Amino acid sequence: MNSLAKFAEGKLAELEAKSLRRILVPVQRTVPPFMLRNGREVISFSCNDYLNLSQHPATKAAAQAAIEAHGVGAAASRLVTGDHPVLGALEAKLAALKGTEAACLFGSGYLANLAIIPTLAGRGDLIVIDELAHACLFAGSKLSDARVMVFAHNDVAAASALLEQHRAGARHALLITDGVFSMDGDLAPIGELSDVCRLHDAWLMTDDAHGVGVLGEGRGSAALFPQARIALQMGTLSKAIGSYGGYVCAEASVVDLLKTRARPLIYSTALPPASAAAALAALEVIEEEPELRNRPVALARRFTARLGLPEAVSTIVPIIVGEADAALAASRGLEAQGFLVIAIRPPTVAAGTARLRIAFSAAHTEAMVDGLADAISALGLLR
Ligand SMILES: *Cc1c(COP(=O)(O)O)cnc(C)c1O
Repeated sequence: MNSLAKFAEGKLAELEAKSLRRILVPVQRTVPPFMLRNGREVISFSCNDYLNLSQHPATKAAAQAAIEAHGVGAAASRLVTGDHPVLGALEAKLAALKGTEAACLFGSGYLANLAIIPTLAGRGDLIVIDELAHACLFAGSKLSDARVMVFAHNDVAAASALLEQHRAGARHALLITDGVFSMDGDLAPIGELSDVCRLHDAWLMTDDAHGVGVLGEGRGSAALFPQARIALQMGTLSKAIGSYGGYVCAEASVVDLLKTRARPLIYSTALPPASAAAALAALEVIEEEPELRNRPVALARRFTARLGLPEAVSTIVPIIVGEADAALAASRGLEAQGFLVIAIRPPTVAAGTARLRIAFSAAHTEAMVDGLADAISALGLLR
């Protein structure tokens, strides 16, 4: 065996011993929230497609029409020949939704954060970031060469202290947080963070991957903090919007700079027109159907009430289990009862906080939610 394969085998064995090896399990999504996994039909509580718009007739029709009209791929970077008009139309729609001057699309949410952060921050700048911010926000920060300082989760005083101490020595400062935290389901104190940023001339960036479509009348977590000034509202088209791609909403000059300088926009092929067309159709559904967009969070609240947990504030409710093997066992126990709730383990979450991450969608019925709550209760995980 060559040394590379040997290295890989050793590494995998090491991870396996710690219950940290990850395995792909093919699924077949049937009618939401059902899917086939390991040959069995289960009710998924692990999809981020909160409004089931990946399967909506309007989004499918829009994607199909775009494929017929324009083909399946964009054929080049937007700055070459890939700038199909539907991309601009989607940017205008996103900017209107978020109340900003402009928006810029990227290949995915992950790529958006690799694009935005290094374009706007570099050597000599300061990034202050929540410890539980999404992995791609850390990846973008690292790529930027700015000085990165981490503050305790949602600790406004700690963020403020970092800026107090280090802002003067930096050219620019960027404060980065998730709007809705992806593994905890809680909200960032966006209003207070905005005040801190104003005080220290720092730019606030929120990642609203889990807020758009389902919070603030579909406009996302920022809409819950109308006084806040958020310089960069980033998000994804791949969760409640049901399609694929990432975006940022900001002032026109900021968007123009990103379109001129962001490397994942310059050197990577544009989003397929069908993905953008589907997202555009999804945003129209979100706008027109308040009952649909409010349903996932309402179901999450029903669940937390039934179990006596703190009231859900988003579509995501974590049940912290502790060790990775215990979380895996809990997940297997639920799957045997027909509920798919994937265990989330380190390094996605901190060691000792492996958990069941439950995601509620508009397609769940009240009976399904109650059934899951009772099954979790019976596992004896709640102390
Ligand atoms: C899922 C997620 C992303 C990545 O978005 P993709 O479009 O799936 O690449 C970024 N940030 C957060 C907080 C996420 O949950």
